[in-house]
Amino acid sequence: MSLLEIENLRTTFDTHVGKVQAVRGVNLRVGEGETVGIVGESGCGKSVSMLSVLHLLPDYARISADTMRFDGTDLTKLSPRMFRKISGDQIGMIFQDPMTSLNPLFTIGDQLVEPLRIHKGMSKAKAREVVLERLRMVEIPDPESRMKQYPHELSGGMRQRIMIAMAIMCNPRLIIADEPTTALDVTIQAQILDLLVSLQKQLGTAVIMITHDLGVIAGMCSRVLVMYGGVVVEEGTVREIFYEPRHPYTWGLLRSIPQKSGVKKKLVPIPGSPPDLIAPPPGCPFAARCPHAMNVCTSALPEMRPLSDSHCARCYLMDEGAPKVTWEGSRA
Ligand code: SF4
Repeated sequence: MSLLEIENLRTTFDTHVGKVQAVRGVNLRVGEGETVGIVGESGCGKSVSMLSVLHLLPDYARISADTMRFDGTDLTKLSPRMFRKISGDQIGMIFQDPMTSLNPLFTIGDQLVEPLRIHKGMSKAKAREVVLERLRMVEIPDPESRMKQYPHELSGGMRQRIMIAMAIMCNPRLIIADEPTTALDVTIQAQILDLLVSLQKQLGTAVIMITHDLGVIAGMCSRVLVMYGGVVVEEGTVREIFYEPRHPYTWGLLRSIPQKSGVKKKLVPIPGSPPDLIAPPPGCPFAARCPHAMNVCTSALPEMRPLSDSHCARCYLMDEGAPKVTWEGSRA
């Protein structure tokens, strides 16, 4: 049984200019201890999908799903109190910018002790002991002093370590990390990713890594979902996505990342911009930017085509009789 199981997740925002269809039928399964990456450009729906699962969107968001289960419990049928209990106890979230996620008016200690008192009913002394242990786990030097400090007194990397400590505070079974290294410089990014990998090994927690960076996916994940225009356009193991990608958008993403040192290859940006999700195109959302688009591509959204037990892609190029375009051929 999957730890998290989502089918046909749809999220729409009612805005004064129209309904923004940010997520349009996403399916996702995450197994116990598994690390799954969700990759795509800004605005593709990757963060909104996960914020929808955690009910962390504003009131004007409309969320629906055929299935939304965590460890067998139907999340759509829970009372707000029960939902808060399950999500607070068992799902940890790490956000992109720790400065806006931490409360500037409270010390780090106050902010870390509180969830343990609320969700685990611990005494102040016991909660403090657990917080110190977690701060040591995320390699915060001199944790006793750090607990007395305010967020603005810490560096960006240190604040992100605090956010990770907060996410693992209640021993969650799933951590959702939303672009956890984007606001950090490259050296600190590498340290934070190493820390996440080592904590995941130690705790056996499942991780959903949301990122626009395929390098992060390669270093951390076993399975990847590629999202574009509010839908998943390709899904597979890391090996399948990096070595046998089948969707032209995935090809575009792979061509726009630097190769390992010593390989001189021009980076190729994907021309154009993502579709307007107030009036998404009726066909393939990538059609306006796809160099291989055909007439059929603008008629209806292609279904997911299975390629193996773990690999599938949403593209008409996979149909019988379609032009033979391959990743290797498209790179030439
Ligand atoms: Fe390109 Fe058509 Fe495939 Fe979309 S369905 S990615 S437009 S070839």
